[in-house]
Amino acid sequence: MGEKAKPLCNWSKGQYVKQLEELKQIVADPRFVCRDCGRAAHEKKWLCKPVRI
Ligand SMILES: [Zn+2]
Repeated sequence: MGEKAKPLCNWSKGQYVKQLEELKQIVADPRFVCRDCGRAAHEKKWLCKPVRI
């Protein structure tokens, strides 16, 4: 994961398919939820409007 973190909120549909293995790690054991998009993630850098669960 050398690339800059891109929030899940901005991932395209194709990106979810292509980066499924990475996605699994991002959403495992979620600690934050995005109050804009409703997505959950382990680290807040993956969400555009993260709030702690
Ligand atoms: Zn979001």
